[in-house]
Amino acid sequence: MLNDAEKENLRKQLEGELVTPGDAAYDEARRIFNVMIDRHPAAIVRCAAASDVVAAVQFAREHDLRVSIKGAGHNVSGNAICDNGVMIDNSRLKGIQIDAKSRVAKAQPGLTLGDFDKATTAQGFYTTMGVVSKTGIAGLTLGGGLGWLMGKYGLACDNLIGAEVVTSEGKVVRASETENADLLWGLRGGGGNFGVVTQFEYRLHPVEPMTGGLVLHSAERARDVLRLYREKTTKYPDELTMVAAMQNLPDGTPVCGIALGYSGDPVAGGKHLQPIRTFGPPIADLVATVPYLQQQSMLDEAYPSGLYYYWKASMMDTLSDAAIDVLMEYFQTRPSPLTQMFIEHIHGAASRVPVTATAFAHRNEQFNFSILGIWREAKETEANLAWLQECWRELRPHLAPRAYVNYLSQEGAERVREAYGPNYDRLVALKNKYDPKNFFRLNQNIRPTTSKAVPPN
Ligand SMILES: Cc1cc2nc3c(=O)[nH]c(=O)nc-3n(C[C@H](O)[C@H](O)[C@H](O)COP(=O)(O)OP(=O)(O)OC[C@H]3O[C@@H](n4cnc5c(N)ncnc54)[C@H](O)[C@@H]3O)c2cc1C
Repeated sequence: MLNDAEKENLRKQLEGELVTPGDAAYDEARRIFNVMIDRHPAAIVRCAAASDVVAAVQFAREHDLRVSIKGAGHNVSGNAICDNGVMIDNSRLKGIQIDAKSRVAKAQPGLTLGDFDKATTAQGFYTTMGVVSKTGIAGLTLGGGLGWLMGKYGLACDNLIGAEVVTSEGKVVRASETENADLLWGLRGGGGNFGVVTQFEYRLHPVEPMTGGLVLHSAERARDVLRLYREKTTKYPDELTMVAAMQNLPDGTPVCGIALGYSGDPVAGGKHLQPIRTFGPPIADLVATVPYLQQQSMLDEAYPSGLYYYWKASMMDTLSDAAIDVLMEYFQTRPSPLTQMFIEHIHGAASRVPVTATAFAHRNEQFNFSILGIWREAKETEANLAWLQECWRELRPHLAPRAYVNYLSQEGAERVREAYGPNYDRLVALKNKYDPKNFFRLNQNIRPTTSKAVPPN
């Protein structure tokens, strides 16, 4: 715990607020999306300016404290919060400037996707973000960023063209194609390992019509629906991105659905969507030409804050019949009706970037398979974790040894390696250069190999 003089010393350097144990705001300030994470930082710096990030980093260095970095606090692993260290909370840094002429947005790290999309679409632009509007642009972009536009414009990190970063030494550096290009490479998928990003610079694209929504079938039809999804994802246009999911509707009905988004001419899109919309037929076809902001928030209600979340996810080269059988079996035995199975497909522009061009390495066409464990109360945790582990064991033979870093829970060093595959050694070299002591270690940690490196938390 910090003494009064230490707190005062930090407080007077900040434009924003310092919250410490005992303050009225403390419990609310240390809460994140996933209530399973219950940690107690010694200091929470609610940054109001990039200079507050510098002050927090320097203070933590001087007092030999660990740091955690929070954007929107949406990451299920809970790495946004630390015990007994300094939590750098950027969630109030929500500035955004859009240059319509150069089609570039400069965005601060506290923006959610909803904030970002609202500001950019107001000026007729968008770029790839995720599919739930409360997610933070910071964590999402730094890990990769899969979303409805990935087939057409690549991942969120592929549209990141520059950044301002506070390093482990408390220095502000710029990363772009021409300045510290190695750092930009690492920020495009390497997570929060290299510093605190205080400004993201994105390439924007003119907004086009979006045809999207959900096609729902009863869960008993899951085998046929998932086979259709497999077939339709083998060859489809960049404009279309599709997700398959098994979950319960709010009224408790178990369903298997395809969520989709086609960005471009609705007539051309309609032709591609028609066989998916008429297959079955579905119990509900909720596809329409919709405003982009509606598409970006259509899944929000399935992921409220304040629940218990534990996810397991891996890439999948093929969605085999055997894997579908396991999914269907375990879907029926899940202890919590909120738990979902979720399959995304990386394709189009996102899959044409060379594997070593960015830290994000999963570039050939492939699926990402996730079991999204979600439940309401602490007393349900044991049963849900046991079910998740068992389901995972059964599925593992059907999955590839590759993981998307943003979907990892606390799963250890081997899984972090799976997240980076062939890019891991280059990321270690970058970590040795930018953070040789492993100051930024509360993350999916790329551990430096220098003699001074502190082990991950
Ligand atoms: C309901 C839900 C839906 C999701 N949907 C998608 C999706 O469609 N596509 C997708 O790709 N992902 C998705 N994700 C995963 C999401 O990308 C990650 O959880 C991401 O980390 C969230 O970012 P955040 O800023 O909200 O997280 P936080 O928890 O605030 O931060 C996560 C980590 O990112 C790092 N970080 C955050 N801010 C900074 C910064 N300024 N500088 C340096 N490092 C920083 C830190 O290591 C931190 O621990 C989803 C997650 C949830 C819970």
